[in-house]
Amino acid sequence: MDNVYFSVRMHASRSGVHLSGAEDLVPEADIASAAQACLQRALQHQPDAVRLAIDPVPAATIVDGRLPDLVLTAITDVEDSRRRALDALVKAGVSCQAAAVAMQALAEGAAAPGRVMRGAMLVDAESGARLEHDRERGVRVSHFGWGAGARDACMQLLQRHGLEHFRTREALALAAKVLAADGVLAELCWSDDPQYTAGYVASKSGGYLRLPHLKSAGDPLGGRAFFIAPGRELPPLIDFLEKTPFLISALGAIIPENV
Ligand code: AMP
Repeated sequence: MDNVYFSVRMHASRSGVHLSGAEDLVPEADIASAAQACLQRALQHQPDAVRLAIDPVPAATIVDGRLPDLVLTAITDVEDSRRRALDALVKAGVSCQAAAVAMQALAEGAAAPGRVMRGAMLVDAESGARLEHDRERGVRVSHFGWGAGARDACMQLLQRHGLEHFRTREALALAAKVLAADGVLAELCWSDDPQYTAGYVASKSGGYLRLPHLKSAGDPLGGRAFFIAPGRELPPLIDFLEKTPFLISALGAIIPENV
């Protein structure tokens, strides 16, 4: 089993409704701890079904990744934060219309009014058209993880800026893979966790712009939108996001923004 990594993926549901997903890409020695971490995450949601998938990934197929630079803003107002997010999307080459359509969908429930998706919307960066085939599932970024020492180094770096929540680290890793996809201009995200109000805009040019209050506390809605350059062929893009193994080996900088 030399030179093989393993993709560890978890999906928890209750009565067929998605509750939580998690994943990692690890060497063989770390399979048990990764699976346990996934299971612990699943059990926090009182699921009635948990699926755990562990699949080998040849090391030779793994793409080497780097985290985007993290830009910290101190905006506290939700409306101001959303305006700032729209501005960052437009700077990244997304049309005003596409940015506004995606933001409204996240705010109202991107699967259907009041309901979150399991994965991300794909949004045409010019027209704002929704491109994903399934509005419940969307596209799920998968098969990504951390190279030797990179996760711990990232945790230490984030802790120095008071950002110890696991969601920040995981979102950075996910955004790194999304930004590495050919044809993705930018990503917009905020969590569906009612207690976690932070979100971000990530783009190749602007890095990962963290907005601590992209929604109000108590709001159970959230999601992700990936903005796609017009005319891109979707199957290779989706294949990269969902299946190409991606291992982060280098961190980005942390840049506190002067406001
Ligand atoms: P979270 O940051 O885990 O609270 O997730 C926020 C939203 O992002 C979820 O409601 C999903 O719509 C979406 N999402 C979560 N995980 C993924 C993933 N691996 N790939 C794409 N979208 C995801």
